[in-house]
Amino acid sequence: MKEERYPRLIINRAKLRHNIIEVKKLCDDHGIEMAGVIKGFNGIPQCTEEFAKAGVSYIGSSRLEQLQRAADFGVKTPFMLIRIPMLSEVSQVVEITDISLASDIEVLKALDGAAGQQEKIHKVILMADLGDLREGFWEEEELIAAALMVENDLKNLELAGIGTNLGCYGAIAATPEKLRQLVDLAEVIEAAIGRRLKYISGGATSSLPRLLEDNMPERVNLLRLGEGVILAKDLMDLWGYDMSFLYQDVFTLQAEVVEVRVKPSYPVGEIVVDAFGHKPEYTDKGMRKKALVALGKVDYGNCFELLPREKGIEILGASSDHTILDVEDMDRDLKVGDILEFDLCYATIVYVTSSENIKRVFIDG
Ligand SMILES: *Cc1c(COP(=O)(O)O)cnc(C)c1O
Repeated sequence: MKEERYPRLIINRAKLRHNIIEVKKLCDDHGIEMAGVIKGFNGIPQCTEEFAKAGVSYIGSSRLEQLQRAADFGVKTPFMLIRIPMLSEVSQVVEITDISLASDIEVLKALDGAAGQQEKIHKVILMADLGDLREGFWEEEELIAAALMVENDLKNLELAGIGTNLGCYGAIAATPEKLRQLVDLAEVIEAAIGRRLKYISGGATSSLPRLLEDNMPERVNLLRLGEGVILAKDLMDLWGYDMSFLYQDVFTLQAEVVEVRVKPSYPVGEIVVDAFGHKPEYTDKGMRKKALVALGKVDYGNCFELLPREKGIEILGASSDHTILDVEDMDRDLKVGDILEFDLCYATIVYVTSSENIKRVFIDG
């Protein structure tokens, strides 16, 4: 029999499917189209396929590589590039995707050129920065000028709408007022170009509360959703929303215990710097039962963002390939070879799904 290899990531497709269907229903009920964002799980095509099967309007990613992988896997849903494009990738943007978010005039001109060469019409959503201070036009006049340029001069581009992103850098909330500001901007653009825009894209998971509270401003009609579908944790943990209609355990990280031993909690000798050049601080709690599991920082980033499923485990620290746990308070007698399970959050899942060391196992039910 083939050995089970660890660490592994168990991906429950049935639970993922449930979450996608429920969130899509919520969007449908509010007249909102959904772009399913796959960057959180590194575009694992079997997961992307669940979004496609649920009938989302677009599959979105920040990375062309992930969208290409989805295409190679047979996903036919139109693709959306949600990270404003690099000048160096515009021809691939046009080749691979139907629509992209944009915030720069030079990039728009280059996209238009690439679309002309490929004899395609490429759709763009112009991004407005409403204060979160990541991508987007800041001055209203500049946004309107860009919209007019796309509409009148860039014949190979179609101005599909405008959008915004909130809660990523500046931690700004997607309040009804902020999103109404976006609708107002859209209406100014509509007056300038003399027609209605197809899309007003009101953000990411951080805008889902507007649907949960039923106070999304009229005319916002597209959301780009990742975390709130695949993990459904942030709105619960950070904002206190009841997300019990979704599974928080679509993904399970499993790691194998390679040492269990009672050791001091305070290092013995002269403390200099750890393997990453930091000088950590340690609390002396005397002798404690500790376990090492065989995975480390290269697999998940920050160990303190791993979430042990079992009670009585405290994460003490990690190096590249080891994670050190205090297991003194666990109510079972942990042994070498045992498997421990962890929940993931956005900060860890992006690493775990990118690590070549972590085997993926799909279950369905
Ligand atoms: C990542 C991203 C999203 C999706 O964010 P979630 O929080 O995962 O829903 C949407 N739009 C843009 C521009 C993004 O960068």
